[in-house]
Amino acid sequence: MTLAYITHASCRLHEMGSYHPECPARLDAIHDRLISSGLDAHLQHYEAPEATDEQLARVHGQDYLEMIAESSPASGVHYLDPDTALNPYSESAARHAAGAVVLATDLVMRAECDTAFCAVRPPGHHAERNRAMGFCIYNSLAVGVAHALAEHDLERAAIVDFDVHHGNGTEDIFSDDPRVIMVGSFQHPLYPYSGFENVAENMHNVPLSAGTDGEVMRRAVTDVWLPALNAFRPQILFISAGFDAHREDPLANLKWSDADYTWVTQQLTAVAGEHCDGRIVSSLEGGYALSALGRSATLHVRALAGL
Ligand SMILES: [Zn+2]
Repeated sequence: MTLAYITHASCRLHEMGSYHPECPARLDAIHDRLISSGLDAHLQHYEAPEATDEQLARVHGQDYLEMIAESSPASGVHYLDPDTALNPYSESAARHAAGAVVLATDLVMRAECDTAFCAVRPPGHHAERNRAMGFCIYNSLAVGVAHALAEHDLERAAIVDFDVHHGNGTEDIFSDDPRVIMVGSFQHPLYPYSGFENVAENMHNVPLSAGTDGEVMRRAVTDVWLPALNAFRPQILFISAGFDAHREDPLANLKWSDADYTWVTQQLTAVAGEHCDGRIVSSLEGGYALSALGRSATLHVRALAGL
């Protein structure tokens, strides 16, 4: 099986302050571990293109897109919310992050690769149709899903979100869209304090309490995610791959281990093998303990590549 590894240099130039946990070193932690593990040599490397205005406008409002363009500073940092800021390179980084997911979608749909991993930042799953929040500017994964539906004539796309935070942005964009289901788990209560009430029927959320380990997560996957995915029979599977449920992560309190990321990825490759010729597009979301992030993402990529 071939795996496309997609990134862009601009994703390292987006910085929100030296104190900020969503930092350029996150991408180095992943790439360094891929190299030292020997896995990097087995991947097909691609440079992400920019997402076009048309691609972004499928999931974001025109006023929102204009606001982001006008807010981009020539120097310094402009805050969109207390956690989320733009520097002069951020808009380009966010556009390449979304473009990476679009390219990944095209590659797996054209069978030029089996699976794809987008090593990009800023992350995207908190970005709602008309709101930047939680370190996210454009909802990259949602841009890719909308591209798959519009340009590849698909009728059913599934999203899996295993970041420790609820993917409120993706839920905002695809709630009640019959072409999409999302399965996910997240620590609750925790930022952004959503996803547990008045949830649309196509959203299959599993809130997990602080301290939950991989054992409980595996039961949730077996009991909730897999039945929902198998009933839906997706034509492509997207993964919002956040690694902040890891026990070493400083931003949350779940206790997943390195091996849990291998296990959950193997479950998802089995679903994709059953229903959609193995087509998976995975994109980086959170993960802030640099060593754990590098290890977990490498195990995720290894499992996606079937290695
Ligand atoms: Zn997160």
